[in-house]
Amino acid sequence: MPISHSYAEQTTVQCPHCGNSGSADIWLILDTQERPDLAEQLQAGTLHKLDCKTCGKEIGQVNVPLLIYRPSSEKQPLIFSPADQASQEQTQEHVQQLLSRLYNAVQADWQDSWLEQLVVVSRSQLISSSQGSPSDLQAILQELNQPVRDMRAMGRRVELCQQALILVEGKNNEQLWTALQFELGDSLIQNPQGDRAENIEQAISAYEQSLEVWTRESMPTPWAESMNNLATAYAMRIHGNRGENIEQAISALEQSLEVMTREVMPVKWAQAMHNLASAYRDRICGYRGDNIEQAISAYKQSLEVRTREAMPVEWAASIKIVAGS
Ligand SMILES: [Zn+2]
Repeated sequence: MPISHSYAEQTTVQCPHCGNSGSADIWLILDTQERPDLAEQLQAGTLHKLDCKTCGKEIGQVNVPLLIYRPSSEKQPLIFSPADQASQEQTQEHVQQLLSRLYNAVQADWQDSWLEQLVVVSRSQLISSSQGSPSDLQAILQELNQPVRDMRAMGRRVELCQQALILVEGKNNEQLWTALQFELGDSLIQNPQGDRAENIEQAISAYEQSLEVWTRESMPTPWAESMNNLATAYAMRIHGNRGENIEQAISALEQSLEVMTREVMPVKWAQAMHNLASAYRDRICGYRGDNIEQAISAYKQSLEVRTREAMPVEWAASIKIVAGS
């Protein structure tokens, strides 16, 4: 018999109403294909609600982390929902424990790529997305289409993108899914809340997901924009090796600039040239003198578009760096 993927811990609870004790299953891993009955309970919000087996009254909700495994989902096979109010360290520990348990259970079916696709959502978000209907998706997309006036709204946008990604997945709309990954990346990068390093990691992963669909051949402009933003994320990355992160940024920018040319998209081109210049200025690999030459040349090119008259703020930013080089 194959090992069950879904996993519950048994615990003994005492009923506050009748005083009787009984055992209860606390579900921590849910394979939606293996246990559609539990998936339904999750949707109804009752998966972690305990009822007394003797008197039938409600004992309460248990607050535990939950890992969801969706074998039928190609793009989002793993969803993790932390326990409410768990600290970052606790959440990290929970996710590792549950992933290693699932890894041992699925054995040869395990794919490392699942880890990159792992999404983390709050419990309330998880329940509302699992109940999700097309109208919910429409409402989310409408809200995402509103212009952003305040960076503090980015946390909300991150949540909306994550919810929409779960809803879209079932509908197999690949282009929308990809656009949402891109939007998620942008929102994470700009989100002033949460763990900065972790936000950047998640943004990199979101851009990388979008780049699997938007290829240079099939969708050159979105591809170039996503490469450009991926480069920005690498340039500001906190984790990993600084030198390698800058190499990644330079490589992504140079590729992006092959499509985002000065003739076609002058403003974005100038921005990318400016970013390329900054990356060369900060470069650790290669000869310092050469890197500075590259930086100055890229700044000068960006300044040809970012003139004092046309774009005073951007012009000032570029001028400052040329002066500092
Ligand atoms: Zn009872």
